[in-house]
Amino acid sequence: SLEIVASPFPDVLKELHSKYKSLRDGLVANYIPELAKVNPDLFSICIVTVDGQVYEVGDYEQLFTIQSISKVFAYGLALEDHGRDYVLTRVGVEPTGDAFNAIILDEQSNRPLNPMVNAGAIATTSLIKGAGATERLNRMLDMFRRYIGHDVFVDISVFTSERSTGHRNRAMAHLMLNFGMIDQNIEESLDLYFQQCAVMVNCRDLAVMAATLANRGINPITQEQAVKSCYIKDILSVMYTCGMYNFAGEWAYKIGIPAKSGVCGGILAVVPNQMGIAVFSPPLDVRGNSVRGVKVCEELSQQLGLHLFECS
Ligand code: GLN
Repeated sequence: SLEIVASPFPDVLKELHSKYKSLRDGLVANYIPELAKVNPDLFSICIVTVDGQVYEVGDYEQLFTIQSISKVFAYGLALEDHGRDYVLTRVGVEPTGDAFNAIILDEQSNRPLNPMVNAGAIATTSLIKGAGATERLNRMLDMFRRYIGHDVFVDISVFTSERSTGHRNRAMAHLMLNFGMIDQNIEESLDLYFQQCAVMVNCRDLAVMAATLANRGINPITQEQAVKSCYIKDILSVMYTCGMYNFAGEWAYKIGIPAKSGVCGGILAVVPNQMGIAVFSPPLDVRGNSVRGVKVCEELSQQLGLHLFECS
């Protein structure tokens, strides 16, 4: 007889959401006022499977700026624009063990260590092609559109305040210019980096983006190819080793799936060939990862047996 087995996801998501709603640890990012004024109680979890099923709980339509999660997707676009070999000459693939905004380049090669920390992400974004600032921005926005399945917009207040306060990022760009790691046009590339960080998404969008990476680069809802399949392994490898900053090792050990966090409080996680997971909760721990996001992913990984090296 044909038995329809209900998905465990709705109950698991509901349970985790109510369990961690009361967890009040962490602080919202406050390096610019636009991020500091976010409501710390906002909380959502979303799963999108590679066959296009969507499961969501909480404030999943609340918009926020994507911040560092954008680094994953900019890296994919740089790989498509230049190929793996060239991109590797400009940005490495070693985890840092340092904070995301550390001003450090590799001593031998002068490359930033990996594309998931700020220095590496600025180098990555500097590689995005286009005739001038507008064309480069439009190519970036169109890339996000393919992953998400609808048009995206930049939060102008977040962009302008990142630009006017981003001296540390500007210092990294100048250091890389000094070593010839990025080209002369650093203000244009920094603007593009600040714009990419200020792209507005909601938790469901992040889960669709994650599911697209889980599905060989094909958006499981629109069926559009967002990034060439041949670069998925590059993207997921650096996410796995570097995506959670100086928590990446412990994350790989405990949770065991490629993921990326941002100061917005979002975490995007990819279970290859199965699903994308996204959590949004603004309060951050000392490394800049969402407190509830880490907890929820840890439990989801355990309950659903998602660790890549799980033997059951
Ligand atoms: N816009 C932030 C920055 O460049 C992104 C950092 C982050 O999300 N960790 O500092």
